[in-house]
Amino acid sequence: MKKLLAPPPAISFARVLAYAIVDETVRFTGEQRLYVGNELIGAVPCIALCEELRNDHAGFFVAYCNEKWEAVAIAPATDPNSAMRQAEHYYRGLGALWTQTTVTVHQAREWIARSSPEEVCSFCGRLPFEISNLVRGNDAAICNLCLDAFHADIHSGKNQETYEAT
Ligand SMILES: [Zn+2]
Repeated sequence: MKKLLAPPPAISFARVLAYAIVDETVRFTGEQRLYVGNELIGAVPCIALCEELRNDHAGFFVAYCNEKWEAVAIAPATDPNSAMRQAEHYYRGLGALWTQTTVTVHQAREWIARSSPEEVCSFCGRLPFEISNLVRGNDAAICNLCLDAFHADIHSGKNQETYEAT
């Protein structure tokens, strides 16, 4: 069997707090039915406990992942303990396999920014899930929030001196 690697710092815009790689000591109960497209898949090889980075989605979830740590399914939970209990219910013995990560919020954000640089605002550094629109130029992109702020500045007369000087 191929050796699976540890997960990235973030999965689906959430920080990875702990992860487990399913091995032969784990018994999949079959009570979890996950579909990819129309196909029912059995046990997943990789499971991660994640904390949301999105402000409007505060909370935790278990990410049931393929071998590349891409989430096949996400199951929300109110706290890490109930998330782990839920995973144990489907994957008996998983409890002994969890490895805690040391990933900080900052590291998780950095990783998301690095993995999709073209989706990040060049001016404020907001990440894709924090903006609703991004206008791209040749070497830079600006988000809707920065555009709104600049627009307000220009029309408040704050930049009047700049105009007079030129
Ligand atoms: Zn911005």
